[in-house]
Amino acid sequence: MRRVLVSSCLLGINSRYDGSEQVDENILEVKDSYCLIPVCPEQLGGLETPRPPCEISEGKVINKDGRDVTLEFKKGAEETLKIAKMFSCEYAILKERSPSCGCGKIYDGTFSGKLIEGNGITADLLIKNGIKVIGESRITDLKK
Ligand code: SF4
Repeated sequence: MRRVLVSSCLLGINSRYDGSEQVDENILEVKDSYCLIPVCPEQLGGLETPRPPCEISEGKVINKDGRDVTLEFKKGAEETLKIAKMFSCEYAILKERSPSCGCGKIYDGTFSGKLIEGNGITADLLIKNGIKVIGESRITDLKK
């Protein structure tokens, strides 16, 4: 069975910054066809849950209280990559718009809800290492 990395919040784990989850029923539907491996890069990087929301600004990750958490985000990305390699994951389904997991579009760093083109720290590292990253709204790309 093919192994696929998945943002843990999409599988119903309460790993989001506010301590909630964001379960995606379309992903749960494929859980018998793929071996889904839940990961939360922000928790793997040592950040607490709940935690202040973060956004990427000028290459750094800053939380809403103004603390620079770039190192934690980078550590979480490295740990996630380690897991992806350990289980030979070709694909990762990651939460859209997250400063860790987002792929293609992320918030612009002003905490105003504005989106810009870009990847989260983990999504970017996985892509650079040849892993195909899919946002949850594109789950059908995996089913092909
Ligand atoms: S870092 Fe990724 S997996 Fe963790 S809560 Fe945020 S979006 Fe979900």
